[in-house]
Amino acid sequence: MKLRNKINLFTSVLFIVLLILVNLSIYLSFSKMMLAGEVERTVAEAKQAINGINQVNSTVELQDILLAYVPVNGMMQIVDTEGKAGAGVAVPSQQTLWEIPVRYHQKEVQTVVEYNNIPHAFVSIPMISREGEVVELQVTENLGATAEMLNTLKLVLIIVTFITTIPVLISSRLLSNFITRPITSMIATMRDIKGSGQFKRIPLPKRSKDELYQMGETFNNMIELLEVNYEKQGQFISNASHELKTPLTVIESYASLLKRRGKDQPELFDESIQAIHSEAIRMKDLTQQLLLLARNEQHWLLESVGINLNEVVEEAVQSFKKAYNREVELKQETEVMINTDLQRFKQLFFILMDNARKYSEEKIVVKISKAKDQAVVAVIDHGIGIPARDLEKVFDRFYRVDKARSRKTGGFGLGLSLAQEIADAMGATIKLESVEGLGTTAKISLPLTNSH
Ligand code: ADP
Repeated sequence: MKLRNKINLFTSVLFIVLLILVNLSIYLSFSKMMLAGEVERTVAEAKQAINGINQVNSTVELQDILLAYVPVNGMMQIVDTEGKAGAGVAVPSQQTLWEIPVRYHQKEVQTVVEYNNIPHAFVSIPMISREGEVVELQVTENLGATAEMLNTLKLVLIIVTFITTIPVLISSRLLSNFITRPITSMIATMRDIKGSGQFKRIPLPKRSKDELYQMGETFNNMIELLEVNYEKQGQFISNASHELKTPLTVIESYASLLKRRGKDQPELFDESIQAIHSEAIRMKDLTQQLLLLARNEQHWLLESVGINLNEVVEEAVQSFKKAYNREVELKQETEVMINTDLQRFKQLFFILMDNARKYSEEKIVVKISKAKDQAVVAVIDHGIGIPARDLEKVFDRFYRVDKARSRKTGGFGLGLSLAQEIADAMGATIKLESVEGLGTTAKISLPLTNSH
């Protein structure tokens, strides 16, 4: 069942049931009150008659006294202990009341009984007869007029119930429409997105900022986020394929050159193999970096251990010197112990060292120091530096200051963005300070373990 129909059905049924209950209780309490009032009136009439009988001289016929007190719509009679009727009077319109079987009740009775489907007030009160015997004065009064009034009330209440049902139905329909309209429009937009593959927003009317408005707003924010991510991903893929295209083109052209003329000109062989080999290495590097970046999407699995930062950096600097045959000076201002993931730290440090190597010729300086509660490892080079306007952007994926130059040095513009992601995962920060033409200082700051 649709939400709209559910709301509709639930509110209508609830309202109608409430209406019926209210009207029913009005009718029942009203009829009870009216009938009780009638019975009380009959009791008062019976008591008046008993007073009359007791006060009037015994020479006056009992029948005549009863005639004076008989209710306008009923009968009055004396019944003895054996259940035999004595003197009695009934008004002409109620002669049928004689047909009711007579019986002695032994105690006072005040009730409503049905004769011929008409309610009657019946009252029986014990009294002492003129002869000094115990008898009962029984009064029966037709309550047809009251019953008619009650019937009219019943009819009015039924009509009122039906009439009020109409606005109830209309308002519950309006309510369900009001609630479900934004949801329906949201579903339509979602279907539209699914069908067209485009990121669309739900139009939000500028009414009160209720929960439905908030839901729509959240949906639009989510779509925006998806769109931004989608575009970023598209950009990333196109950059990656563009980067792969260059080495592939080089490899392809050298391979076809070899195919065409390799056999006749053996001197071409060395050059081609050399170029193909270095381009293959470039591609391997790129795919490795791409894989690392892709893995980051699913969180780095960090394994934090306590390390002596000085030892780790010293070791790394030694292997770097050996691998690249570059002069590196290590300045250790202080001894530092930290808790971190060793492999990730080394990866981060190598990225910065690699940049210093690629973009400078002179000696590289590595400095270990402490600043407040942070351990700082600085990689300082005296190379070409980074122009101030590019300083912010160098952390973006595939961003390179000078593409032509980078191609020669081998960078893809992925190193610093990878470094940034590793640092974020480790809880470290990277800061670059650079002056174009003078050199660059890259600082890794890591939280200290304790007061070391
Ligand atoms: P790449 O692999 O191209 O070096 P990075 O993300 O590591 O990519 O660096 C982005 C760009 O920032 C580089 O292309 C380079 O222009 C610049 N850069 C990074 N480090 C240095 C540095 N130490 N000196 C000069 N320029 C640098």
